Parts: sequence; C-alpha cells; structure tokens
Amino acid sequence: MPGGPAASSSGNPQPLGGNEMPRFGGITTFMRLPNRSEPADLDVGIFGVPFDLGTSNRPGARFGPRGIREESVMIRPFNMATRAAPFDSLRIDDLGDVATNAFNKDDSIARIEAFAGNLLAHGLKTVAIGGDHTIALPMLRAMKKVHGPVGMVHVDAHTDINDDMFGEKIAHGTPFRRAVEEGLLDCDRVVQIGVRGTGYAADDFDWSREQGFRVVQAEECWHKSLDPLMAEVREKVGGGPVYLSFDIDGLDPAYAPGTGTLEIGGLTTPQGIEIIRGCYGLDIVGCDLVEVAPIYDASGMTSRIAADLIYEMLCVLPGVERRDD
Ligand code: MN
Ligand code: MN
Repeated sequence: MPGGPAASSSGNPQPLGGNEMPRFGGITTFMRLPNRSEPADLDVGIFGVPFDLGTSNRPGARFGPRGIREESVMIRPFNMATRAAPFDSLRIDDLGDVATNAFNKDDSIARIEAFAGNLLAHGLKTVAIGGDHTIALPMLRAMKKVHGPVGMVHVDAHTDINDDMFGEKIAHGTPFRRAVEEGLLDCDRVVQIGVRGTGYAADDFDWSREQGFRVVQAEECWHKSLDPLMAEVREKVGGGPVYLSFDIDGLDPAYAPGTGTLEIGGLTTPQGIEIIRGCYGLDIVGCDLVEVAPIYDASGMTSRIAADLIYEMLCVLPGVERRDD
C-alpha cells in the first residue's frame, strides 16, 4: 500500500508510515523509527551527537541531530534506485542522543566514545548524526578497540589534519591528525574526497598523502560521475573494516548552505549519493554525517540532504539485501 505501513514480515523496527500518522505529526525520531530498542536487539544503532565545542567559525552543529531528524520525516523505507530494503534486512533503530557536556569538550569526547563503545560491544554498526567533525575522533577511538585500525572514506571540503587550532589539539579541524598519531587508521586504506579551497601553504594537503591517504581534490570531481572513482576507492579501502565520515561541507554551498565553514566549488548532491552508493560491498562498521548547522540552513534543505545521505548510508551497510539480487 503506497504510503502505508512498510511491507515487512521481519518483525524489525520500521519507520512509521504516512498513513499511520501524518508526516508532520508524531515524535521526531530519525525517519520516525520507534526509538524503543535496546542495543542488544539491534544490528544498527543510529544516534545523535549534539556537540559543537570544536567548531572554529560559525557554531550551531549542536542542533544538527534535531534538524536532520525533523527533515527525515519524508523518507520512505525502500530505495527505488538501488533496490535496497535496509529495514527489512537489518534491525535498525534511533537510540536517541549522547548526553554531551555543553561546558566541557574533553568530557563530551569521552562520553561519545563510551556511547559508541557500548553499541560496538553489542556488535552493532554505528551511524552518528553530528555534531561537528570533532566527533569522528572518539568514534574512531571506539572503532579501534573493537575492529583495530580501520580504513576510511572521508568526504569533506577540508582534510581536517591540522596539528592544532589556536593551540588546541582537539577541534573539528584536527581529528584525522590525532587519529593517525593514535594508530586508529589503516592509512593505506584511507581516501579523502572533495577537499578544496584556500590554504595556509601550498603543501597543506601533503601530510595526508605522506601518510598514504588518497586525496581527491574537488576539481578532480567536477563535471563528471564519480562511479569510476568509487571503483578505485573500493579497491583501495577494501579488505578490512571501513569507517565512512561525511562532512556536509563536502557538498557545494549551493546545495548545503547550512554549515559552518563553507568552500565554493564543491560536490553536487548526486555526487554525494554516488560516493555513498559506491561504498556498497565494503565492510562498513560505522558512519557519521557531520557539520550540519540548521540555523544557517535555507528552508531545511541542508538537513534534508543530510537525512537522505544518512538513509543512503543505511542502504550500503553489510547485510542489506537488494530486491533484485
Ligand atoms: Mn570536516
Ligand atoms: Mn569541512
């Protein structure tokens, strides 16, 4: 029944259909999922990370989880393009938010790692709704404890490999420098896509390359499909667990203005979708979508794109069946 309850005999948690409760009604969880599950009963835990104490310019990503959940209400369970049926294949629920400490960055980082660590200890895949990009560091720390060093597909306008920001070692522009130092990444299996803009020096992106990362600058992506690139990416990052970290500012500000550190000449929304869909077949163990700041958003479009990209992440997790398979 179009718009009705999701056709499922699985007994898995399902998004609330538009004929059960109007899409503008009800409590706003991600995709109107039940928010009633215990980690032990799930395969995938979606959770919010309301945190922006690592932000260098415009703040507001602490409101990302609420904004993204609000704009996720229109998303239906079946992917008409890839034929993926994530909620029939896996037990997925929205588990609410990490109780971050609004007055303490380091305490917040510890709380995020503990929250994710609990889900990983139960064998779940994690999908974190940020929050600024600082949150990738505690996520990767949690991943290391369970999976060892992970490969990574990182979409961003920025490489986020600063040694420090204003003297601070932990900020939204430093997580991947810290991750390398702490041995959290399998550096030969890391790709950064969409980086661009102005730098402090000509060698700003070179530290990443020296670690073994593949750095794909935005100009390499202009005016073309990223399907061929993603074949290369799968080749490079495959063969082990992979973390997917998507900074919404990887997209062009024309599509995603609701964020803190804008750079022109970014990826298109279809290219963002191609990147995520191109991760199908990888052993993805966790994902995040970060840096959405709804207070700068126009008509909720950035949050809406973010919500759909998170849905696309669910569609490429290991174990998700495609109806034509
Ligand atoms: Mn970032
Ligand atoms: Mn960025």
